[in-house]
Amino acid sequence: MPATPAWPPRSAPRLFVPGPLTEGGVVTLDGPQAHYLLRVMRVAEGDAVILCDDLTGEWAGKVTQAGKRDLTLDLVERLRPREQVPDLWLCAALLKKDRFDLVLEKATELGVRRIQPVLMRRCVADKLNLERARAVVTEAAEQCARTALPELAEPVKLDALLRDWPAERTLFFADELGGGPAAAAFAAHLGPAALLVGPEGGFDDAEREAVRAAPQARPITLGPRILRGETAAIAATAVWMGSIGDW
Ligand code: SAH
Repeated sequence: MPATPAWPPRSAPRLFVPGPLTEGGVVTLDGPQAHYLLRVMRVAEGDAVILCDDLTGEWAGKVTQAGKRDLTLDLVERLRPREQVPDLWLCAALLKKDRFDLVLEKATELGVRRIQPVLMRRCVADKLNLERARAVVTEAAEQCARTALPELAEPVKLDALLRDWPAERTLFFADELGGGPAAAAFAAHLGPAALLVGPEGGFDDAEREAVRAAPQARPITLGPRILRGETAAIAATAVWMGSIGDW
């Protein structure tokens, strides 16, 4: 086993901060991030904090000044470059808040490149607080030590998604009425991919037809059970990562 460097300790707090971070740079934090480090994690001068900027990778920072409401860190060394992110987009129907939070959190942990919320006729939810959603994604990335954030797109209607669909990207369409077995379908199509998962009420007939008519669409089944939207999104992502992702 490779030796684990003693510093920074694995338990050091992790944060995404605005970049680009550079060798020998100085970072000053205030607001909620300073509150988190000073009050929740109780960091003091000399302590390590791991910083990521979603651009250059992961850095070890050392606290040089800890005030009441702000703190300053020196960037000591770059620990890892930004990770390679598997080219999978998750196009998930917008769900009720708690359910969609779960999708945001788990898709980030599982390693998707982009999360695209989609508005469909049978969606119960119609709005997403993008700033809050971004916070959920960022916290999940910090918690699981990702050095990249998934892109989080604004919700789009299904017809607009299909109209602007990039020609080279396969669209695996999780259809509760059936399709090819997911794992085999994934393995047969290398290259840029996306998963499309429906809302609580499923796809309506016109939507199903419109998706199936898209040249890049490949209907897939996730088995004989009807999964909830969040389960379908998370499970299909896991199977894709296991088939042709980076697991
Ligand atoms: N209320 C609908 C089910 C919606 S499930 C009904 O009773 O038919 C929410 C979404 O999860 C579906 O639109 C689909 O995208 C996905 N999904 C759930 N189970 C699935 C399965 N067995 N195969 C493929 N997709 C599934």
